[in-house]
Amino acid sequence: MYDVAIIGAGVIGTGIARELMRYQLKVIMLEKENDVADGTTKANSAIVHAGYDAPFGSNKARFNVEGNAMFDQVCKDLDVHFKQIGSLVLAFDEEDRPTLEELLENGKRLGVPGLEIIEADRIREIEPNVSHTAVAALWAPTAGIVGPWELAISYAENAMDNGAELRLNTEVTAIEKKENKFVLTTSTGDVEAKLVVNASGLHADDIYNMVAESEFTINPRRGEYFLLDNEVSDLVNTVVFQCPTKMGKGVLVSPTVDGNIIVGPNAEDVETKDEINTTAEGLAFVREKAKLTIEELPFHMTITNFSGLRAEPSTGDFIVEESKQVLGFVNVAGIKSPGLSSAPAIAVYVAETICVGILGADAKKNPAFNPKTRKKLRFEGLSDEKKEDLIRVEPSFARIICRCETITEGEIVDAIHRNAGARTINGVKRRCRPGAGRCQGGFCGPRVVEILARELKISPMEVELEGKDSHILVGETKGGAGE
Ligand SMILES: Cc1cc2nc3c(=O)[nH]c(=O)nc-3n(C[C@H](O)[C@H](O)[C@H](O)COP(=O)(O)OP(=O)(O)OC[C@H]3O[C@@H](n4cnc5c(N)ncnc54)[C@H](O)[C@@H]3O)c2cc1C
Repeated sequence: MYDVAIIGAGVIGTGIARELMRYQLKVIMLEKENDVADGTTKANSAIVHAGYDAPFGSNKARFNVEGNAMFDQVCKDLDVHFKQIGSLVLAFDEEDRPTLEELLENGKRLGVPGLEIIEADRIREIEPNVSHTAVAALWAPTAGIVGPWELAISYAENAMDNGAELRLNTEVTAIEKKENKFVLTTSTGDVEAKLVVNASGLHADDIYNMVAESEFTINPRRGEYFLLDNEVSDLVNTVVFQCPTKMGKGVLVSPTVDGNIIVGPNAEDVETKDEINTTAEGLAFVREKAKLTIEELPFHMTITNFSGLRAEPSTGDFIVEESKQVLGFVNVAGIKSPGLSSAPAIAVYVAETICVGILGADAKKNPAFNPKTRKKLRFEGLSDEKKEDLIRVEPSFARIICRCETITEGEIVDAIHRNAGARTINGVKRRCRPGAGRCQGGFCGPRVVEILARELKISPMEVELEGKDSHILVGETKGGAGE
């Protein structure tokens, strides 16, 4: 029997698993998809918010401010890209100024460091390309950008390095509470655990309703994006927001940790929890709104569009608590934005205060816990001397597979064989970037299929793009010998 079964391996579930491994506990992550970080964690703005906008006293406010302060250390330990580049909220006329002042006051009350309102000339110093209609801005130096799926993958890897288990392609379909344990029915067999952590994102209400009377609902709210080529990476230096609306933080323009520019999102309530398509209307809205921030945005440099679904809770706030109806069942639900920014703080709180609090003396400190992951191999960033040394030891680092991003075969092989390693084409892309550049995998895709098939000892026909049964090869185009 496990001490803790975590349903969902997004940034929340994997973060909790990692923090639980600081204790001598038997922990399992159950994920219905064929990779970690395959839900909302893979499609968002990737901003580590400073934390000035959530209402005082809310979970969102508390965890955002605490989480922001933890990012530097967590990302150093887990070797995840994080840059504290600061953010601006722009006011385009004097009518917006009171909104900036409210955000400033709220942020100060919440303890967000370094906030100030700056005027047009200072905005131009920080962001020369921003529209001349911007009259003032809220400057938040502690905001940053991070690789969101990178964080979740590294959390999962570190949890596994420290003894946690990960079961992919495992959908939880029913949960039964027995006297001293839960029995979870899953698509890969039953799992028994003393505690259950519900970190299932958009499905947290469905999962909770398997054991309890309905207390909250989670409604999907879509956000759509443009991702621009890294040739225009110097368009903005910081995260540039517009004044917020009641639907959210509005359209932003920001660098990404990989040197692209992200533009979006809109906010549209949708009917079902799988509507992750983009729409002509949604993207047109983002385009129009973003032009307020930068008049001449180079949308012709778009390399891809995508959308993500916010898990909008009916309660309005993050739900982070042990259920009062079902003791031992912990909901971590409604984790919409700023959920990524809050993830490190939520993880520590759920692991240490809630789970260890419930398990009591059963949860002993793990003296062997190692908070650091093995460094990821990034060939392009090495000196010529180091590159030569590496190639001498492992010749596959001499073979460039992705020319857009200069990714070697050695990096791809490493990404497959680490704990929580890549199993799909997009899983490889998210871990070490082949296919993330301008050609979007047009050239390197077939090579990645070959490498996945070889390393996983499966047929190329079995290699999936992303998600269950997303095979991209259906048969051979040329006959075998003699045909
Ligand atoms: C458009 C948009 C922009 C955002 N921008 C930001 C931002 O800039 N900064 C920020 O801080 N936050 C942002 N967020 C919020 C952030 O992305 C989320 O808070 C975070 O990713 C939530 O992670 P999660 O682990 O709770 O959910 P998920 O990543 O969705 O993980 C839940 C997992 O549970 C699995 N699951 C579901 N049901 C089952 C089942 N029955 N059995 C097994 N597994 C199951 C799913 O497959 C999924 O992998 C944004 C969100 C969106 C949509």
